[in-house]
Amino acid sequence: MTDVEKPINFIQQVINADLAAGRVKKVITRFPPEPNGYLHIGHAKSMCVNFGLAEQYGGVCNLRFDDTNPEKEDDEFVQAIIKDVEWLGFDLGNGPCYASNYFEQLYIWAKHLITEGKAYICELNAEQMREYRGTLTEAGKDSPFRERAAAESLSLIEDMRLGLISEGAMTLRAKIDMASPNINMRDPVLYRIKKMAHQRTGGKWNIYPSYDFAHGQEDAIEGVTHSVCTLEFAANRPLYDWFTANLPVPSVPRQYEFGRLNLNYTVTSKRKLKQLVDQSYVEGWDDPRMPTISGLRRRGVSAAAIRNFCDSLAVAKTDGTVDMAQLEHFIRDDLNRNAGRAMCVLRPLLITISNYEGQEQFDVSCHPNREDLGQRSLDFSRQIYIDRSDFSEDTSLARKKFKRLVIGDYVRLRSAYIIRADQVIKNEAGKIIEVIATLVPGTVGQDAPDGIRARGVVHWVSNETSVDCHVNVYDRLFVEAAPDEGDKNFLDYLNPESLVKMSGCKVEASLAEAIVGEHYQFEREGYFTRDSGDLDNLVFNCTIGLRDNWKV
Ligand code: ATP
Ligand code: MG
Repeated sequence: MTDVEKPINFIQQVINADLAAGRVKKVITRFPPEPNGYLHIGHAKSMCVNFGLAEQYGGVCNLRFDDTNPEKEDDEFVQAIIKDVEWLGFDLGNGPCYASNYFEQLYIWAKHLITEGKAYICELNAEQMREYRGTLTEAGKDSPFRERAAAESLSLIEDMRLGLISEGAMTLRAKIDMASPNINMRDPVLYRIKKMAHQRTGGKWNIYPSYDFAHGQEDAIEGVTHSVCTLEFAANRPLYDWFTANLPVPSVPRQYEFGRLNLNYTVTSKRKLKQLVDQSYVEGWDDPRMPTISGLRRRGVSAAAIRNFCDSLAVAKTDGTVDMAQLEHFIRDDLNRNAGRAMCVLRPLLITISNYEGQEQFDVSCHPNREDLGQRSLDFSRQIYIDRSDFSEDTSLARKKFKRLVIGDYVRLRSAYIIRADQVIKNEAGKIIEVIATLVPGTVGQDAPDGIRARGVVHWVSNETSVDCHVNVYDRLFVEAAPDEGDKNFLDYLNPESLVKMSGCKVEASLAEAIVGEHYQFEREGYFTRDSGDLDNLVFNCTIGLRDNWKV
């Protein structure tokens, strides 16, 4: 059942042992985002682990929203997350599930703890609570409300729920151990008053459960067998276990923690990504420079590339930073195999072929080794465009290595004729505006005749049928590998050249109606996709450059 080429990770080892011992019959996992932002590449790793385990063991992974804090959450985020999970190709399991669907049950359990003498209503304010909590080296102090009678706490929590108590005046706390070396166990808050509508339950509740009180119980309700999360939750595990041990839960999940994925040259924290969006450093959550799933999609990264990348990473018990080049490798690898080829001239220079009249069409394949991607037709005409950077007037020795068009010499137009540049036409400012050339007849798909040698191959488009387009070229969002390391302010390291907008580019006619979501290799330039952000214009986003592998 397991992938034979890869050693199994520690979570798979646990699952294998649980299945072998009969402790678990069906593997149930979950992916539990809080809908307070868009998903990023780090979440993709968590999804690949959680949905991946369910797929591998024939189990189920629930997409579950941990929507316990209406202050920061929004339905926009819920919808965006569902879209991203589906786009990545994961089966939502029994989901989408929502913590907010369990508010009633969580409330019943909170009252159960009060009745059992294991929770109490506390009237310390936030600041006092911090003082009483103690520190890593110092035990905390018991709250003066700790011994309050259960009946009184029960009546107060009902008042809290009904909105009769003001915000901040009271909380419900578990009665565990103020001297515990684990601060999470020092009478944590279970419920807070928030007189705020929730995106799914509306005005029904004036109190909301803490993340810690909700999380493990949500897993228990859903019958989650292996609750897989990132390392920062390791210290919360004893608390989750305390809840399930002290409540009549229908099942007892076990939590396992693995290392977060961090990528260099970017940030993978929702809070920081939100700051980039809210303060307009980027165009939105789906800005193609963002490491969000929606940004990567708009940039032209395929779902398969993201999954292959995540699957290549170790599921380890330490956090790690992965080199952006590793993600880029998987992006290129996928696009090289799957992107159709096309020609787009980014900086057009007009070429007039003096010995040619009329029109021709050349049928060429969309991919050198993928017949299934079909053929396209290239229009050839008397006037064409090549890229300015593919022409030079400088015939001196220094330009000998220039494998492009030089005055007096030959170059092959990709999939078409060999041409020779004869004459340059400049405007008054001395800028080259046109090159007059002649073509060598009979050289389409044929070698050059004796005595003629093309310096190289360049891409081109027809003047008559090519279409104007805009092209966005992206670079890394940050100039520093670790922009948020230590006490650095990541905003100080934004790359001012992370986006270059080009206009007046010319793309071959077959892409006039390019579809969002399709990937193209613009020959000799890189991989591109149509931008979904501006459908009134023909805009292409550069996903990633080619490795310099252009062969003559
Ligand atoms: P952030 O720190 O970016 O705000 P988060 O952990 O607060 O992320 P959640 O919505 O709570 O965001 O995350 C949902 C799940 O994704 C959690 O199980 C969390 O452990 C996991 N996750 C979040 N970030 C990463 C990451 N960088 N690498 C791996 N898993 C992650
Ligand atoms: Mg979190």
